[in-house]
Amino acid sequence: MSTVNISAVLDAIKSCLPQDENYIGLHEPFFGGNEWSYVKECLDTGWVSSVGKFVDKFENALTEFTGAKRAVAVVNGTAALHIALSLVGVEQNDEVLVPDLTFVAIANAVMYCGAVPHFIDSEKNTLGIDPGKLEMYLREISQIRLDGCYNKKTGRRIKAVVPMHTFGHPVDLDTLEEISSRYKLEMIEDAAEALGSYYKGKHVGNWGKLSTLSFNGNKTITTGGGGAIITNDEALGRLVKHITTTAKAPHKWSYFHDMVGYNYRLPNINAALGCAQLEQLPQFVEKKRTLSKKYQKAFTDISGISFFLEPDFAKSNYWLNAISLENSRQRDDLLEITNSKGIMTRPTWTLMHRLPMFQSCPRMDLSVAKDIEAKVINIPSSPFLIP
Ligand SMILES: *Cc1c(COP(=O)(O)O)cnc(C)c1O
Repeated sequence: MSTVNISAVLDAIKSCLPQDENYIGLHEPFFGGNEWSYVKECLDTGWVSSVGKFVDKFENALTEFTGAKRAVAVVNGTAALHIALSLVGVEQNDEVLVPDLTFVAIANAVMYCGAVPHFIDSEKNTLGIDPGKLEMYLREISQIRLDGCYNKKTGRRIKAVVPMHTFGHPVDLDTLEEISSRYKLEMIEDAAEALGSYYKGKHVGNWGKLSTLSFNGNKTITTGGGGAIITNDEALGRLVKHITTTAKAPHKWSYFHDMVGYNYRLPNINAALGCAQLEQLPQFVEKKRTLSKKYQKAFTDISGISFFLEPDFAKSNYWLNAISLENSRQRDDLLEITNSKGIMTRPTWTLMHRLPMFQSCPRMDLSVAKDIEAKVINIPSSPFLIP
């Protein structure tokens, strides 16, 4: 196991960044387009709240960009996951297969449905769910019955699987979709980190019944806070819109709600930001890919460290650039020195199975996720770092 020269790593990171800044964040928003004029229009007209033309415009622009038939804008990515899980039929006491290495939103959303997250290991090249390992595991622990897939150990139904495109790098969607259908699982793609990423030439979010996006402040584009559900099933898309907008039957004055709905809509003022941001998304992705090429080059001659590249089948937005240390004992030293020099870096999320509320949840062998957790660091990735 080789150790890396920490100051060489610091120099390599610095060489890819602007020289005249004393602080560089991990991923900061950039408002260089029509943000001011669209938001001003909301304020000038009074259309700041739950309906308005920017909501419709934003949803249409999202379908155009992703190629999906329908997009529904919602308050955040976590709400999008909650609705997506409910609408594919996740019920009380079901299990849902989720990556152990992910942001907490997925496991939380499973809990909102009264279901149980079941943690799955990562594949070392994509960082997302390992399809081969998942399949071997399912073969061992599950039993397929007429009404679905059951966990032989817990007796619970396993209803769905939620792959996530870690740091923007797509997972192997075709293989996961094939496994899902063979095991009678619904697949929901959590594409929160992957707007602007493509799998085999097609934008992510087009596999499975429903997919989710996030426009939080640190994502590739932001609406302040926000998210979306995208789908190619138009009837399901209409239901998503209905249930996230309080399930109110359209009428001139009457308030009639025909099911328990949610007030999960994205306000018009946030959608206005989203419209302006989406117009700049192609340039953002281009700049982020340029930055990742610079990093890749800067790290080639340093031993003991590697830079994460997009998988062969994918074109990644490189949402967060990531490096992996061969020697995990150097991780905290590197975090310490970069952050003390005003260059924000951070480790991956703490693995889900370690969090207090999920400690008793079912899981498979998680050795790859543990290895990634111990060795991987994210480095600055804002698009404006490239002039
Ligand atoms: C950002 C993110 C979400 C959604 O987060 P919100 O802050 O609720 O928009 C979901 N999953 C992953 C993997 C994310 O990175």
